[in-house]
Amino acid sequence: MALLEVRDLKKIYSSRFSGTQVQALDNVNFDVQEGEFVAIMGESGSGKTTLLNILAALDRPTAGKVLLNGRDLGKERAAFRRSHLGFVFQDFNLLDTFTNKDNALLPLVLAKEKYPVMMKKLTPLAETLGISSILKKYPYEVSGGQKQRVSIARALITNPEILLADEPTGALDSRSSEDVLNLFTRINQEGQTILMVTHSMKAASYAGRVLFIKDGRVFHQIYKGDRSSSEFYEDISRTLTMMSRKGERA
Ligand code: ADP
Ligand code: MG
Repeated sequence: MALLEVRDLKKIYSSRFSGTQVQALDNVNFDVQEGEFVAIMGESGSGKTTLLNILAALDRPTAGKVLLNGRDLGKERAAFRRSHLGFVFQDFNLLDTFTNKDNALLPLVLAKEKYPVMMKKLTPLAETLGISSILKKYPYEVSGGQKQRVSIARALITNPEILLADEPTGALDSRSSEDVLNLFTRINQEGQTILMVTHSMKAASYAGRVLFIKDGRVFHQIYKGDRSSSEFYEDISRTLTMMSRKGERA
């Protein structure tokens, strides 16, 4: 059984005012195995954020389901999702009235964890992420790259089965992007399953597999195998060119 199973996912947004409908996801199917690092690519408007928000249970599908270890996420309570999934967003979503430390601890505070237990989890994680020295500061006092690392700490503090990231390097300069991607590679090598949406070929080339979505469907997928990131990058680039030429679905 795969860790994550995505089955026949459809999402239609309808506007009650104009009566118009947008089919953001047509019929999405894929699995993610434990320990994988998967990137999802697709043009702007292809349904990437919609897909990730449904996986994160921040939005509901019109049809289809998402299973985590065989459990239907749509039927689980918010607390279950909070403890089993970690989220990283493009714009960090940190609370400016909380210190970086309190932002990172937030999921454990919501789970009513005791303070010594929280710190026992945060201390080594902060070390790994290189944020120990900025924990007492506020998000507005640190750089974008540091903010994203705090948000990664918040996502990982519950030891989630899957880390879900929507354009995690989208708001970062190239140096900080590389830091975040190297970090993802490292935690993946230590066993963390990662699913990352990105429109950056560079970012996707760090993953072990890339799923391409087009018109709300999985159009194609490629595996890195034992190729280098630069060889994989070339393959990703060719695939995107092929996809943009091909009007029809495969
Ligand atoms: P991506 O992240 O790949 O750019 P999105 O998932 O954001 O794509 O959007 C997919 C499609 O769904 C687009 O046509 C977008 O305009 C539409 N869409 C996204 N969110 C909403 C919403 N809340 N209401 C209506 N349409 C939406
Ligand atoms: Mg998006």
